[in-house]
Amino acid sequence: MIQLIRGFKDILPGEVETWQHIEKIARSLFEDFGFREIRTPIMERTELFARSIGEDTDIVEKEMYTFADRKGDLITLRPEATAAICRSYIQHKMYADDPVKKFYTIGPMFRRERPQKGRYRQFYQINVEILGVSSALADAELIFLLKTLCERLAVKDVEARINSLGCPQCRPGFKTRLQEYIASVSDQLCTDCIRRKDRNPLRVLDCKVPTCREAMTNAPSILACLCDVCDHEFTLLQSALDRLNVPFVLDKRLVRGLDYYTRATFEIQTRSLGAQSAVAGGGRYDALVQLLGGPDIPATGFAIGFDRLAEIVQINRSEQKRKPDLYIAAMGGKSQALAFGWLCELGAKGFYAEIDFQDRSLKSQMKRAGRLEAPFVLMVGENELEKGFAILRNMSTKDQEDVPLDELVESISKRIKSYDDFNK
Ligand code: AMP
Repeated sequence: MIQLIRGFKDILPGEVETWQHIEKIARSLFEDFGFREIRTPIMERTELFARSIGEDTDIVEKEMYTFADRKGDLITLRPEATAAICRSYIQHKMYADDPVKKFYTIGPMFRRERPQKGRYRQFYQINVEILGVSSALADAELIFLLKTLCERLAVKDVEARINSLGCPQCRPGFKTRLQEYIASVSDQLCTDCIRRKDRNPLRVLDCKVPTCREAMTNAPSILACLCDVCDHEFTLLQSALDRLNVPFVLDKRLVRGLDYYTRATFEIQTRSLGAQSAVAGGGRYDALVQLLGGPDIPATGFAIGFDRLAEIVQINRSEQKRKPDLYIAAMGGKSQALAFGWLCELGAKGFYAEIDFQDRSLKSQMKRAGRLEAPFVLMVGENELEKGFAILRNMSTKDQEDVPLDELVESISKRIKSYDDFNK
C-alpha cells in the first residue's frame, strides 16, 4: 500500500468542514476591512526565499524543499507567503497608483521540519499583509483582526504578545549590549546559540532549549534601547491596543532574526494549544520590499497557523455533513434511469438527492436512506411507472403520497422547500 509522505496529512471529510468554516469567517472579516485576496504560485525561484528569509535561518539552512527542475534552475516549494506577495507587488508595480495595498492569502506552505503534533511538513497558513503604511496603527489593525477572528471562532484564552525590534538606527546598539550579556552566560548556551551569537544574537533570545531560556532570563530588553521614533511608534501601538480593548503583554524574547524586520513584532498565543501555543505570528518588515528590488515601501503582516487553528475550533456537528434532501429508491432499469435524471435535475436546482446505483432491494435501499438521514424517500418501480406516479414517503411522519411522474422534479422541489422552510 502506498502511504502519504511523512509530515504530510490528508484533511478528510468530517474535518474539512472546520477548515471551510474558518476560511469563511476569515475571508468575510478580512474583506470587511478592505483586504483583497492574492494567490501566488506554490513554487518560486529558490533565490527569492534565500534572499528574503535569509541564509542563516533554520528554514533556509535545512528546511526548504528545494530541487533543480529539468533545466537545472533551482526552485523551492514556498515555506512562507510574505516573500512571494512582495515579489508580486514589485513585479506588477502595484505601488504605482497607490502604494497602500491590503492583501490576504490562504494556502499550503512547506518546511522539512521534524514532524510532531502541531508541526507538519505541508501546513497551511492564512496570511494578511498591509503594504505602504508605516504607522503603528496598521500593526494595531492586524492584531485587532486576529483578536476578532479568534472571538468569531470562539477560540478561548487568547493573548497577544508584542515587542519592538527597533530599526537600523537603534538596533545595532542593542545588539552590542545583548552580545555582552551573551558572552557572560555563553557557557550555558546550546551549540546552535554559540554558533549564532556573533552573527545573529537576537536569535539566542528566542531559543527554545530550556537551559538557554534560563540563561537569557536577565538579558537586556530592546525596549530600553529604542530610538525616539521607534519608541513613539511602540507607544502608539500600545495605546491603540488599549483603546481597542485588546489584551497584550510585552515579551522581550519575541524577536525575528532578520534585518529587514523592524519595529512591531507580535504573536497570538492560546493556552488551548499546549506546547505549540502560537496560533499566529507577525510584525513589521519595512526593509523587505526594497531588499527584493522594489522601492522603499514599509509593510507589516501576520501568518496564522491554519492547522493549529483547525485543531481548536469546534463546529456544530450538524454543519459537518450534508444530509440528502431526498433518497430515491428506484427498482428496475427503467426507474433507475429516470431516477438518475431526477437526481441531476434536483442537484442543479440545489437539492441533494441520493440514489442506489446497484438496483438493490427496496428494503436495503430504505435502510441506506435511514442511515443517510434523508427526510424523504421517493419510491419508484415497474408498478409506479405503469400508473404514472411515484410514492413520496416522509420518513419522520411515515405519511405517503402519490407524486405524478409529469413535472415530478417541480413538485418534489416544492415539497422539499416547504419542509426546509418549516424546519428552519
Ligand atoms: P512563521 O511563518 O514561522 O512565523 O509561523 C507562523 C505560524 O504558522 C505559526 O505561529 C504556526 O502556528 C504556524 N506554523 C509554522 N510552522 C508550522 C508547521 N511546520 N506546522 C504547522 N504550523 C506551522
